[in-house]
Amino acid sequence: MKIGIIGLGLIGGSLGLDLRNCGHIVYGVSRKETTCQKAIEKGVVDDASININFLSTVDIIFICTPIGLISQTLQQLTSYLKPEVIITDVGSVKTPIVRECEILWHNFVGGHPMAGTAEQGIEAAQTNLFKNAPYVVTPTEKTPKQSIKILEDLAKSLGSKIYTCSPEIHDQAVAWISHLPVMISASLIAACVAEKDKTILQLAQKLASSGFKDTSRVGGGNPELGVMMAQYNKTALLQALRGYRQQLEEITEYINNEQWDALEKLLMITQEKRSPFI
Ligand code: NAP
Repeated sequence: MKIGIIGLGLIGGSLGLDLRNCGHIVYGVSRKETTCQKAIEKGVVDDASININFLSTVDIIFICTPIGLISQTLQQLTSYLKPEVIITDVGSVKTPIVRECEILWHNFVGGHPMAGTAEQGIEAAQTNLFKNAPYVVTPTEKTPKQSIKILEDLAKSLGSKIYTCSPEIHDQAVAWISHLPVMISASLIAACVAEKDKTILQLAQKLASSGFKDTSRVGGGNPELGVMMAQYNKTALLQALRGYRQQLEEITEYINNEQWDALEKLLMITQEKRSPFI
């Protein structure tokens, strides 16, 4: 297939590498000329340009820009496309994007490959990023069945596991396991660095090991992405944050009241309930 990718960063670049390795021809579009040049040198794309009309001959386009630019990018694209072209996106939030984009283009399929690193930009692109990772496809009643199948087949060829659900259910589920953890992890780092005693803070920084590394990883990632998760998935994220705060208050009470049995019971439950998530 001839595949177009707009936004040659971590996700767009990694998709390009794997799709080319699967034998597809990949054309890229990015904002900066230097990024296009690096993408060609790195083997992410067969060719690249900063002009969106460069993609007028492709069969399917992945929009991999930051969330806030997805529907705007699609708007700029539509006049250059053949009607049968499939457009998909990789945005971490689905409801506002899918609902806007399906009005702009009849052949739009929302998608979310659930893989990433704390890095960003073309330099962070890597092969096999999506292997064994979930790839969520979020069709609506309007999405053409044939286009869903084509996107699912491409995602399977990357080694991803396909999940299908509505954009709304997707956003509520990822609020719990992706967007809430970013905010908790960021709060953890912010609370630690607010320690006023420099000696304690410096020692804590030296002693921080695997536990802190695990729990702080997503709070140390791309700030622009974190803001957009909150902005575009505000309702579901606020609901998750309320649930989390309630839980934290319960734990605080147990400790404050020295209710060690209650704390142990809770920790036994969380120990048992973690495995279905991972
Ligand atoms: P990223 O590494 O910052 O890449 C985004 C790229 O988009 C930038 O490198 C930039 O390239 C390009 N870009 C920005 N504005 C553009 C425009 N107007 N036209 C064309 N290209 C433009 O971010 P990312 O992590 O790949 O995230 C991209 C999308 O993937 C987001 O929608 C995000 O929600 C989704 N996603 C991210 C993750 C994750 O963990 N990071 C996981 C799943 C999905 P230039 O260098 O040319 O400016």
